[in-house]
Amino acid sequence: MTTNPQSLRIEGVYQQRQAENFMMRVKVPGGVLSAEQALKISEIADRFAGGRVHLTTRNSIEFHWLKEESLAEIGKMLAAVGLTSRGACGGAVRGVVCSTPFSAGFPAAQTLARKIHHHFTQNPHFEGLPKKFKIAVNADYSDPRHLIQDIGLVYAGTAEERDYYDVWAAGGLGREPTEGFLLKGKVAQENIIPLIESVVSVYKERTPQGKRLKHLVREIGREEFLREIQERMDTCGPLALPDGFDKGLTARPAAEASLHIEARVFAGELEAAALRNLAGIAAKHAEGFMVLTGDQNVAFIMKDQDSCDAAAMALAAVGFGGNSREERVLFRVCPGNHECRMGLAPTRDVARALLESIGPKGEALSWAIAGCPNSCSQPQLAQAGVVTSKIEKSESGELTPLFDLWLRSDIGAMGKVVRQRISLEELRQAIGEMG
Ligand code: SF4
Repeated sequence: MTTNPQSLRIEGVYQQRQAENFMMRVKVPGGVLSAEQALKISEIADRFAGGRVHLTTRNSIEFHWLKEESLAEIGKMLAAVGLTSRGACGGAVRGVVCSTPFSAGFPAAQTLARKIHHHFTQNPHFEGLPKKFKIAVNADYSDPRHLIQDIGLVYAGTAEERDYYDVWAAGGLGREPTEGFLLKGKVAQENIIPLIESVVSVYKERTPQGKRLKHLVREIGREEFLREIQERMDTCGPLALPDGFDKGLTARPAAEASLHIEARVFAGELEAAALRNLAGIAAKHAEGFMVLTGDQNVAFIMKDQDSCDAAAMALAAVGFGGNSREERVLFRVCPGNHECRMGLAPTRDVARALLESIGPKGEALSWAIAGCPNSCSQPQLAQAGVVTSKIEKSESGELTPLFDLWLRSDIGAMGKVVRQRISLEELRQAIGEMG
């Protein structure tokens, strides 16, 4: 190991739990990935990452088990297809996500996500931040993930050919889950980037190292925060965001906004060969694009029912028929201590153990498992969430992970903790009792 691992973070690289290995995270704005990009990702996975990728809940792709000497070559391969890992880790504006790909407003949301991504990525004004800065653009309120962003935008309608967005701020998970608050309602599209710039600059100037925006707002209060933002907004004018060719890369369904089909990827673990198959389906049936979803699956937005039917047959032929239990139960899972240095539990093994305990009622819920309180898989926003909250050491030195169980019934809020610090066996029992 010749390079300081800390210096690699801005390039989207973390040192793994296994110190000679690295994880690289690739930004995919709005989750929209072309067939050509997917083929390049598969090639990188086969050559350098053990033949698989991990899909994250933030529409990104992670390669694990990379060697230091491969990192620069992988960066070049990504650049060749217009992708980057820059700022996907460390103190930077992270990948701009969208968790509502099946909504009518998705073409507008994904387009705005790309514009924000291009504005903030690799821009030195927005790097060197105290910690990460997360932005999401959602097409509607069908998903609550705008609540956990530093800036969460939600499409609020179009009037006189201008799109408007509600802007939520200062949310986040981690050890202190905090719901964001409505910073400004119905902001015209040309004021979105000046507003985000103002928030990022206040965050950069006023927040202690290692703290998120939510800490700053808690420290100085919303009133003072809003005053600082407005001061900066007053000094910069609006910034028009003309669409040009980009009015959404995925198909626009003629009638049904939700015409789509999905390949369910258990725990976000996808083989390179399977991704190649999905790229072929995107090229043949979905106008050349796929969408990485916030639930770690791969979706195709279809223009008509015939394309949808043909894609369903093609998916079934390559193992995504939706019949297995692993495909039926919606599970979001972070890498946990399989690869992550922070991990307290082997999350994929825990997911498989829980799958055996989940009954018919549980099958209908969305699930999420996080390997530590950082909560990267967003358990607080799943209908049933599991956070590994502690590791207990017995007298003989044996380490046992303990879990918190969260349940959520309100679509517009985070869930609530219903059991704390229980063992895997107790967790399985609690889940079995849910029916
Ligand atoms: S939740 Fe914890 S264990 Fe899981 S990926 Fe995030 S930091 Fe790692």
